[in-house]
Amino acid sequence: MYRVPVFDYLDLVRGVTRSDFKLQHQRVLDGFVLFETDAEISRIKLLTDAHNNDDALPFMDAKGDNIVWENRESLRNIRRSGGEGWYSAQCPACAEAGQDRNMNNLQLSAMGFKCVRGCTGKDVITATKALVEPPVEVGEIHPGQMVLDLSEAKPEGMEGARLVQQTQKKERYTKVEEVEGKTMLTVYRKTRNTGEIKEESHPIDPKATRRLWVWLQRFPQGATVRSEQIRAYLAPFYGLSSDVWASHAHRSEYFEAHYYPLLWLEYKRAITYNHDGSVVRIADEVQP
Ligand SMILES: [Zn+2]
Repeated sequence: MYRVPVFDYLDLVRGVTRSDFKLQHQRVLDGFVLFETDAEISRIKLLTDAHNNDDALPFMDAKGDNIVWENRESLRNIRRSGGEGWYSAQCPACAEAGQDRNMNNLQLSAMGFKCVRGCTGKDVITATKALVEPPVEVGEIHPGQMVLDLSEAKPEGMEGARLVQQTQKKERYTKVEEVEGKTMLTVYRKTRNTGEIKEESHPIDPKATRRLWVWLQRFPQGATVRSEQIRAYLAPFYGLSSDVWASHAHRSEYFEAHYYPLLWLEYKRAITYNHDGSVVRIADEVQP
């Protein structure tokens, strides 16, 4: 617990425009500002570091939200960096200008983000939003119901694949096959305007897949299960916190237990798997 006299705090935040540092958003008691929770302690550390090193504070957006952090799964090359809770990634604004080949110009955490090459917060937010694919436009349909153009002929070389997701820009198909006693799932990503297809194959772990499906059956059909809920359920099986799970620092566990099983369940038309990582159970049983 840190206690900072109110007047010292006001001195520290003079000139700081971020709304989360405004005095009315802090806990104040008997003339002191209190810093006790993880978020509060991160805030005072950020503030004193910025003050002592004469650095600018990392950005948040105008509403005090952190859109870049919230959409970190869309960033490229996200990795742990220096301080606790901090990550580096390719700066999407630099990348749009053909820069940041080393893919580490962006520093981000729950407390904010900044580009070490000096992109503005607004540019980074705009470029991050462009990375996040918009959800499929759906009209009057029930939650979880898919709208896929199944009539379209499949591109060559994708026999046996199923169309599982479709946007204006892209189509995603998957195929499941038994290869030498292993279940393999192949993902085909097709860019609609160029016709270019990218293909990747992954082994499916039946145990991890069953575990996730049994858990998903607790939720009513048609209900949305958010990515954070899935992470919070799975991470303890690997002795990890769900925040670490989200950081992609443990990619092999994430793929084995979380991502590939969801792709498999989607192929089986048991769930829909949305762009934001949420899923909706649409069947009671997995098709054989
Ligand atoms: Zn940048």
